[in-house]
Parts: sequence; C-alpha cells; structure tokens
Amino acid sequence: MPRVRALSIHADYRCRSSGACCRSGWEIPVEPVVEARIQAGMDEGRLRPAASWARALPGLPHEARSVLRVLGSGDCVFLEHGEPRLCAVERQLGADAMPSSCRQFPRLVTLTPLGVSVTLSHYCPTAAAMLFRDDAALAVVSDPPAFPPAWPYEGLDAREALPPLLRPGVLMDWPSLERFEQHAVSLLAGDGLSPERGLRLLAQAAEAARRWTPERGSFGAFLEGVLESTGRELQTRAAIVDRETSLLEITEAWRLAAACVPGRERCAPLPDGLDAADTRFVAPVWPALGKPIRNWLATKAFASWIALQGEGLRTTVLGLGVALGVLRAEAARACAEAGRVLDAARLKEAVRRADLLLVHLADPETLARRLGRCESAAQPFTIRPSSAEERR
Ligand code: SF4
Repeated sequence: MPRVRALSIHADYRCRSSGACCRSGWEIPVEPVVEARIQAGMDEGRLRPAASWARALPGLPHEARSVLRVLGSGDCVFLEHGEPRLCAVERQLGADAMPSSCRQFPRLVTLTPLGVSVTLSHYCPTAAAMLFRDDAALAVVSDPPAFPPAWPYEGLDAREALPPLLRPGVLMDWPSLERFEQHAVSLLAGDGLSPERGLRLLAQAAEAARRWTPERGSFGAFLEGVLESTGRELQTRAAIVDRETSLLEITEAWRLAAACVPGRERCAPLPDGLDAADTRFVAPVWPALGKPIRNWLATKAFASWIALQGEGLRTTVLGLGVALGVLRAEAARACAEAGRVLDAARLKEAVRRADLLLVHLADPETLARRLGRCESAAQPFTIRPSSAEERR
C-alpha cells in the first residue's frame, strides 16, 4: 500500500456537505460504469431527479459520453433539497456510484514514486476554513486519518515518469523533490515571516539549487547545503523584519492565470481600479492575515502539479508567485465589491475565488507551459505578457 502524504492542516478533512461543488454549474463527466449504476438506480426507482439527468457531450475523458445535467439554478440535478443538501446518488447508491470528479473533490492528488500526495482545493468552503485553524502546526504528515492508503486516489499519475526537472534538460531526483517541498512548507510555517518574504527565500533557494552541475557532487547533498544556507538566513533579523515586494504585480499574475482558461469568458474580468482597492482595503491588513495566506501557499507548494509538469524549480516557485498574486487580486476585488477592508471572511472568499481560477478553470498544462518560459528569462521570476490575451 503506498504511503499517503498530506499537510497537517488538512489531516482531518471530511466533507461537511456544504454543497458548493454541487451548485457550481460544472460539467461533470459520467464514466460508463457510473452511468450504468445511475441508470440502474433510476430503473429501480431509487433516484428520481426533477429533470433528465445526463447531457451528451463529445470529447470527454475516460470514455465518458455525457455530463450530469445542471439545472437553471446551477444545481446538479441530483442535489437534494433540505438542510444539509445531500447528493441523492451517494445517499441512495453509495459513494462508489458517484462520478469520479465528485468522489475526488476537493482532493488534488499526485501519484509518484514518493507515494500519494494529497492537497485540497479551497474552493470547498470546508477546506478553506481549515487554513484559518490554530490547532495544527503546519507540517507534512504521513498517512493522516482523512486520507487512508486504500482509497482510490486519482490525479496526476507520474509513477512511471522521470523525476521532475531542476532546470530545462537537467533532472532532479524524487527524494530531492520531497526535500524541497518540506523546506517550502517549513519556511511558510514560520511565524513572523510575510508570505512575500517566504516566497523570496524560496526563489533564492531555487536559483541557488539550479546552479548545480555534476562536478559539484550528488544533487541531494548540494541541495541540502543550499537549503541550510536559506535556513541560516531566516535566523537573521533582516529576514524576519521584512517588507518584501511580491514576485509579480497582482493584475499581471491574475491575467496570466486567466489566459490559461479554455473559454476565457468563464472568468469574470477584473474590475478597473484594482490597484487602488488593494492599496486602500488590502495592503494595511495583509500582514495581520499572514498565517492563513502562508498556509494556503503551502498547500500550493505541496503536491504541486506544476512541479511535475513544469520545466524546473524556478517554474515551480513562479507558480507560487502567480498564486499569491491571484489571491491578492481576488482579495482586492472582494473588498472593492464590499467597500470594506479585508478581514478573515473576505479573505476566505478570495481564497475560494483564487482556487476556482487556479485549480478548476485554468488548464494545468497550459499554465505550466506558460510559466516555464521563465526558465530562459534573463531576469528570473519576471514574466511579461506575451499576447494581447494576457494584457486584457
Ligand atoms: S452527483 Fe452528487 S456529488 Fe456530484 S455534483 Fe451531483 S449532487 Fe454533487
């Protein structure tokens, strides 16, 4: 049975039937085996949806021929009324009869020789609330109760793949990926460190690590030296008392992510004047909300698809920079809409919107490819719009 790794803050996750995933109007593919089970449930009279339950759609993954029908309200046809709102398929037929996307949500999984690594989509309100907890120190944990090894995890399957890239043309090894992840998580766990400073230190470590050449000995030992030196820098006063700038402008980051969404019209465009809203409503309180923001960044640094699909460590870190920019843009948007300063509730809503864009709307391969251009950039972690699309 493979080892399952997750973050401590997610270790006791369980679905609390918020129903957010069932009311989002998503096109959920119905795999053939699921289609047969649901049809049998219909034939037996155990499922009685208000409308026909499937809509044929070509080009779906896993040989699916249709998606679940979405009602005019945006609700899935199988979402029951009442409180809490439950899934009729799960209640009547069991979790095995649910489409794969429904069973896996909000889990985001990589399958590698390191085992199963699970992080969560914080579009799920239950997962988003876990970022704000005070009862679990942020760390990587093995085999937590929420994620049993025997569960049928699906995700990015790299079990037979080569290890991730250190830089274009140069591979790392799997233990080094685990070490870099652990380093990122422990950096972001540090109280008194701004999210921006955490990312700068991570970027510094990535830049130093990618200078490795075979003449310097084993990569694992070299990386260890690099990370130890970052750790030493953390001890210095300059690293802790910081006013660090972001890797990217917030609108630049958001537009880059939005340009990776197939069918761009699915993203509500950013309003004008977002930088002014950021200055007025977000910047003054951003440091005080650093802990949940760092927690959220750690959930992106761990079990990262970009680390596996991208062109190197610089791409991985830039992905975190884009994520942080998207979050701050969504925070500014939420505050501008409310005409109020950022607080925990508005940050939670911003986290949900950010993960909607980064996890559910943007195409992961397109995003990794787009970010990968930084590997050959003269200035690391600078990324300029390459198309009219990204300037919008
Ligand atoms: S099938 Fe069930 S879990 Fe999936 S979207 Fe519909 S109501 Fe939600």
